[in-house]
Parts: sequence; structure tokens; C-alpha cells
Amino acid sequence: MHDLEDRYVNADAELIFGQVELCVLLGLRGQNPGALLLLEIAFIGKGKEQDRLSQTFEFNLSEITQLAQHEFFMPGLVDTHIHASQYSYAGTALDMPLLQWLNTYTFPVESRFKDLEFANRVYTKVVKRTLRNGTTTACYFATIHTDASLLLGQIANDFGQRALVGKVCMDRNNSVKHYKETNQECQEETCRFISELLNKKYPLVKPVVTPRFAPSCTGALLEQLGAIAKNNNLHIQSHISENVEEVKLVKEMFPESESYTHVYHKYNLLTDKTVMAHGCHLSDEELDLFRQTGASLSHCPNSNISLCSGVLNVRKVLKHKVRLGLGTDVAGGYSASILDAMRRALESSKVLTIQDPEHDTLTFEEVFRLATLGGSQALSLDDQTGNFEVGKDFDALRVNVAAPGGPIDLIQSEEPKILLEKFLNLGDDRNIVQVFVAGRKVVPFTDATPE
Ligand SMILES: [Zn+2]
Repeated sequence: MHDLEDRYVNADAELIFGQVELCVLLGLRGQNPGALLLLEIAFIGKGKEQDRLSQTFEFNLSEITQLAQHEFFMPGLVDTHIHASQYSYAGTALDMPLLQWLNTYTFPVESRFKDLEFANRVYTKVVKRTLRNGTTTACYFATIHTDASLLLGQIANDFGQRALVGKVCMDRNNSVKHYKETNQECQEETCRFISELLNKKYPLVKPVVTPRFAPSCTGALLEQLGAIAKNNNLHIQSHISENVEEVKLVKEMFPESESYTHVYHKYNLLTDKTVMAHGCHLSDEELDLFRQTGASLSHCPNSNISLCSGVLNVRKVLKHKVRLGLGTDVAGGYSASILDAMRRALESSKVLTIQDPEHDTLTFEEVFRLATLGGSQALSLDDQTGNFEVGKDFDALRVNVAAPGGPIDLIQSEEPKILLEKFLNLGDDRNIVQVFVAGRKVVPFTDATPE
């Protein structure tokens, strides 16, 4: 195997990966030579066409890197919903339903992110942990603190992760009263966050307008945030219909709205750049409104089970043609790995089949799609990432199913699909030997990687 590292750093032309077993050649070309190097996929061809391809795309056959039999490249994983700030208590505090959980654990912890040193520590860890687990794109909630949220954007950029970063907005909080802003502060700080983050001109990190969820926001704030997103053509993220108690609360707080979905719709927060977490208890009519507006859902099965929130019927969502990706929802979900989200999504689907044998159980191929292309579609980033298509950025994991010291024992040589299935069900970060975002190798971390 050739050492690719130097060529990744220096390349401004094509790079080739050969996977002779699959007879796939993948070529990359520089999108932005001279500045920060972004590599997009230049061509995809059959191994047996390598002579012709090498002439067309002007590369030497000696540059082809052949993967071992138990190795493969797969598209990078997309986490459509993760609270970077809550990573500090991931793996604990899973003994309460949503609303009590927020008041008891979440708000007190999130209020600590005023302290930039603490924020730096947590945000560096979560970006590194998710990258190591193959999350090439993450859609983050930070906290209400603008400067700490900007820091999260900087850290994601430094490590080379593709990210949407949201400064959380909330002007209602009756339980932890100091953890909120006034309506005016929310508006001003959101505008400051957006303009300062955009001014950094990070190539892969963008702001996302982030009302926490309807119960934390006045109608006036939701309206302002809808206008800010529209005027700046920005992404929007929030939560919807996670548990039954919350749905009831929204009904009481917004009695004029027909449903939870209509609350967001009324304030122009459902667009084709909106992703809403959960949606476990949405009606058919609400799902139709999602489809009409182009808004998408983030399915976070670990969180839904851990907080006893509900079980999303993914099949129903897909039948309504609503775009859907997977999310870890750290720390309501205890794992920061999308591999875990895939497994929980399959298990949740199987629980629905146990309850109703007529239910059409999701397959591992479908869940794999949700974790990659589905996620990129849910975030409206599928023109850039999500799968290997000519013209898209090269966001990829190099997986070694038989990595030494890893969790998988291969008894015999297996076909590629079996290798993928084994990795999805049994693998972990030990199998993810390299991670690339826009052609840049971001895992393993280098000495130059900031601490
Ligand atoms: Zn969440």
C-alpha cells in the first residue's frame, strides 16, 4: 500500500484509489488549489478500464492504491442531530423523561458554557470523538452562549469536520431561570453569531438558526428566527414531537395552532433547509406538511429509547416522502457514534415488527443509506456529500474489517456486502483506519492537529 499522506497534503490533481476486488477506481481532483485543498470526486470507473482512465485523467498507473481484501471505502457518516455541549455528561443521566431531564441535567450543564475554557475542553473532545467514529458531517446544537458557539465552529474547522453549528435560542425557561436570554438578546446574539461565523469563511462550517424547541420560545422569538433564517437563506434546526408530555405542553402554550408542526410552520421555520429532531408522535397530516414544505426529520433512536420518548415509525415517514437522516442526539442518546444510531434504528424497527407483524422492517442497507445519503439530504447538503458521485466532495471512511486488535473476527474471506454488514453491526472506531473530509485526511490525527 502506498503512503498517501504526502500526496493528500500536496495534491492538486487527481488521486486514485484502486479497489481491485470491487473493480472500482475513484479519482479525485482539486477544487480549490492554492487555497485550502478541497478534493472532489473526478471519476468513478471499473478497475479493468484503468488504462483508458489513466489516459483520460492523466495519472500514472503506479499511483493506484490497492486496498486489501478486507478493506473498503464507504461514504462518510452524517449525524443530523447532536448536542455538542451535552457530550460532557454523555453516558449518564438517562433516568428521566424529557422535560424533567432538561430541567434536572441539561440546563444546569449547558449554563456552564459561558466559561470558554470549559467549552474548549468539551468541544474539542466531541469533535475528535465523532470524527474518530466516522462522522464527517455533524449538525450541532451548542448552547445560548455566542462566543462558545463560535468556538465550536472554530474547532470543527480546525479538525476538518463538515459542520452546521447552532447557537441555541430560548427566551423562556421557568425552571433554571438564569439559563435563557431576553427576546432582544436572542435576536441580537443570533445575528452576531451568524455574521461572525460567516466572516470566518470556513469552507465546511456554516451557522444554523436554532430555536431550542417551541416550549422554550415565545411566539415573537420564533417569528424573528424564521425571518432571520429567510433573510440570510440559512439552515434551521429544532426539536419536534419527541414525547407525549411535550406535545401536550405545546398544545397548551400555543392553543391557536392546529398542531405542533403548525406552530413552526406559522413562523416560517419549516423550509427545505430545516431539520427537526425526533417527530415520534407526528400525525399523517403533520408529516404531509413536512413533505409540502421540504422540511426533514432526524431520527435519534438511542435517545428515543433512553428517555422513553417513543418509537419513530421510519417506514411511515418514508411513505410520506419526508427526508430523513439519523442523529445521535447526545446526550439524550448516550453514544456519539452513528454506527450505534444505525443499530438502534434497526432495533427500533424490529420492535415495531414485534408489535405488528405486518410492519415492514427496515433493512441494514436502508439504515446505511439513512446514515449517509439520507443524512446529507436531510441537511440539504447532498449536492456536496452523502455518497460517491462525480462532482461531490470526497467524504469517506477507510474501513478495515479485520483491523488488528479490532472487534471483528473474520473466519473466511467474505464478499463486500457481508464485510459491510459485519462492520455496521460489529465494528467500531478501531475499524475506521482513515477518515477523509473533502479529500483531506482528518483521522488519524496528526501532530499538527490542535489539542
Ligand atoms: Zn436534541
